[in-house]
Amino acid sequence: MAASGEPGRPEEDEAALVVVVGSCMTDLVSLTSRLPKTGETIHGHKFFIGFGGKGANQCVQAARLGAKTSIVCKHGRRVSGNVGKDSFGNDYIENFRQNGISTEFTYQTEEAATGAASIIVNNEGQNIIVIVAGANLLLNSEDLKKAANVISRARVMICQLEISPATSLEALIMARRSGVKTLFNPAPAMADLDPKFYSLSSVFCCNESEAEILTDLVVGSPEEAGKAALVLLERGCQVVVITLGAAGCVTLSQMEPVPKHIPTEAVKAVDTTGAGDSFVGALAFYLAYYPNLSLEEMIKRANFIAAISVQSQLEALVLPFCLFLLANKF
Ligand code: ADP
Repeated sequence: MAASGEPGRPEEDEAALVVVVGSCMTDLVSLTSRLPKTGETIHGHKFFIGFGGKGANQCVQAARLGAKTSIVCKHGRRVSGNVGKDSFGNDYIENFRQNGISTEFTYQTEEAATGAASIIVNNEGQNIIVIVAGANLLLNSEDLKKAANVISRARVMICQLEISPATSLEALIMARRSGVKTLFNPAPAMADLDPKFYSLSSVFCCNESEAEILTDLVVGSPEEAGKAALVLLERGCQVVVITLGAAGCVTLSQMEPVPKHIPTEAVKAVDTTGAGDSFVGALAFYLAYYPNLSLEEMIKRANFIAAISVQSQLEALVLPFCLFLLANKF
């Protein structure tokens, strides 16, 4: 049995070191040879239903690397006599449990259905996604207050924007007040993001398109990402990371405000859905369990884990125990 604070499968009563306040969604995935045009109907060759949502994905990734994790989220509840209202929510708790994630603060509601993501993936691994956040948007202040103890005892708390921004903001404030590192993933991006998100982010991690929306700059190369990262840093983040797909990441920090490109070994992507989530979950794991590593080293390792995730279909973002071994072998 791993000792407290070490990655592994720790005792039940140990505090979660990585806490996610975020979304859980049901993924409805169609595989097609190409993405359809507006108004067009095309045949796909495979359909499956999976567990997704940025919050859940990031949490599962951290858990599968060996982190003790807890998720604060909300999903729909199947109502007797009204089965159609939600047929997905109840399965989610079981999914979290199977991944060793604490479900103490996984709330249910009858007011809305579990969030759903309709995803189309083509043969090149490119995707288009529509999310209907549903119950995720009902996660509120009261829910956070009940989870205050688990948030304040974490080493890292992760938030995104698939729940109400006000709830994300409140969670970030709670974490920072308790000295918990915050990893904020502003996805999906909002052009008019509340400026407090920047100053509340120990690490602000977004992808190229999110960086473009947030800064109004073109982000197509590591140099351009460096310029956007500087703009985001100046808004008050302690560390900025912009992920660049097969080109790795660009990062900079208040301590070292010079953009640094951290490349990765490009692999042939089968499905890029969740690559960013895999990266964020892995980065949270390293921040919580290997805090003495340099930021550059953590990012290199998170790049490596995310590259594995794109090499198979969706659920592989969370290849179980082999990732735990890889993550801790360095
Ligand atoms: P998102 O899924 O949010 O669009 P990115 O596409 O930027 O995020 O990917 C996140 C991370 O996943 C990258 O920084 C990189 O580490 C890894 N990654 C994505 N695509 C590839 C690829 N083809 N080869 C290697 N690594 C990749």
